[in-house]
Amino acid sequence: MLIFSSLKIFLQAEKSLYLYSMIDKLIVAIDGPASSGKSTTAKLLAEKLGYLYIDTGAMYRAITLLAIRNKILDNEEEIIKLAKEIDIQLKFDKGQTTVFVDGVDVSEEIRSMEVSNHVSPVSKIEEVRKIMVQKQRMLGKNGGVVMEGRDITTVVFPEADLKIFLTATIHERAKRRVKEYQSKGIEIDFEQVVENINERDRIDSSREVSPLKKSEEAIEIDTSYLTIDEQVDLILEKVNELLSTRK
Ligand code: C5P
Repeated sequence: MLIFSSLKIFLQAEKSLYLYSMIDKLIVAIDGPASSGKSTTAKLLAEKLGYLYIDTGAMYRAITLLAIRNKILDNEEEIIKLAKEIDIQLKFDKGQTTVFVDGVDVSEEIRSMEVSNHVSPVSKIEEVRKIMVQKQRMLGKNGGVVMEGRDITTVVFPEADLKIFLTATIHERAKRRVKEYQSKGIEIDFEQVVENINERDRIDSSREVSPLKKSEEAIEIDTSYLTIDEQVDLILEKVNELLSTRK
C-alpha cells in the first residue's frame, strides 16, 4: 500500500506517461484507411508509452504472402486452412516491428506491391477474420497496447480505452506510400499507388464482415497537414487526459 501511495505521489509530481502506464495499462485502438499514418503514429505512441505495438495489417499481409506463395489465392477453403495453421509472430523492439511466419522473417516481403494488391480480398473472408480477431484479442487483452488496423475500434476492442480514427487525403496518403517505397530503394509509379489505395479502401469499406468505418466514439484526426510528431502529440494528450481522470 505504502509503495502504491508513494508511487502515486511521485506520479503526480512527475506526470510521467510511462509511469502512469505502469498502473493503468490502456488499450489504444487506431483505425483508418490505407496509408493514413496509422503505423507510424501507433509505433511512436507505443514507444513513448512503453506499450506493445500491434500492426494487425501485417497479420493479414502474412497470410496473403503465403497464399501467393502456395498459389491458393482463388481457393477460399485453402486460405482458411492456412489461416488456422500459420504461426504469425510480431516482435516489437526499439520502434521496429519484425514479422515472423513459421519462424521466418517476412517483414520486407509482406510490404510488396504484390501483397498489397491481393491482401483486401483475402481479408474479406469471414473465417480468416475470425481467426485473426481471436489472436488480436489475445495479444491485447492485458492492455498496455496500441493496436492499429481497420476494425480495432469496432470489432476487436470496441471497449478500448481510447479510440482513434485517422484520415488523410488520397494525394497525401499516396505520397507517403511512394516515399516509403523510395526509402527502400524501390521506384514506384504514383498513379499505381493511388489505384491500389483506392481499391483497398473500396473493398475494406464495403465488405460484409467488419468493414472499415469510424466508430461513433472514435476521435477523428485528419493527418493531411500534420507532422508525425503533431499526430503523436495529439493522441498522447488524449492518453494523458484519460489517465489523469483515473488517478
Ligand atoms: O494496415 P495495412 O494497410 O498494412 O493493411 C493491409 C490490409 O489488411 C488492408 O487493406 C485490409 O484489407 C487488411 N486489414 C484488415 N483488417 C485489419 C487490418 C488490415 O482487413 N484490422
